[in-house]
Amino acid sequence: MKLSDLKPCASCGGPLLQPPQDAWYAFRSSLAMLNCGAAREVLGMTMMLGGNLRCGPLRLAEQFAPCAEEAITILAEKDGALWTEGHVCFECASTFSLLELVEAVDRRRSEEENRRSKSDPTFAEDSPYSGGRELMVPED
Ligand SMILES: [Zn+2]
Repeated sequence: MKLSDLKPCASCGGPLLQPPQDAWYAFRSSLAMLNCGAAREVLGMTMMLGGNLRCGPLRLAEQFAPCAEEAITILAEKDGALWTEGHVCFECASTFSLLELVEAVDRRRSEEENRRSKSDPTFAEDSPYSGGRELMVPED
């Protein structure tokens, strides 16, 4: 990562480096979902093999269950646009929970997108749809 890629703290908007700290936090977050059908299949097979979820039978069942790899989906691994990435100063990282920081990053991103779209003269400010952009492009 280059120095020019750095932005202010995604939470407070202040500098990332706050002396005497010489580091900050970078995080990447995504929603994860459980595929109930795949999980049921693996857990059912685990029960038939002895039922211990912490060691041998679970791992053995995962070897035989055809959809074991699909039991858990990290949504952003399917669509990279779903990653929430942020850099936060040491103070914010030690004050707020991860979920609060993710919300702060998402809020700043949507504010930025909102500002960008308002400065676009072809964008209809009162239009609730971004699809309205095409309608506002002046014809030659
Ligand atoms: Zn901060």
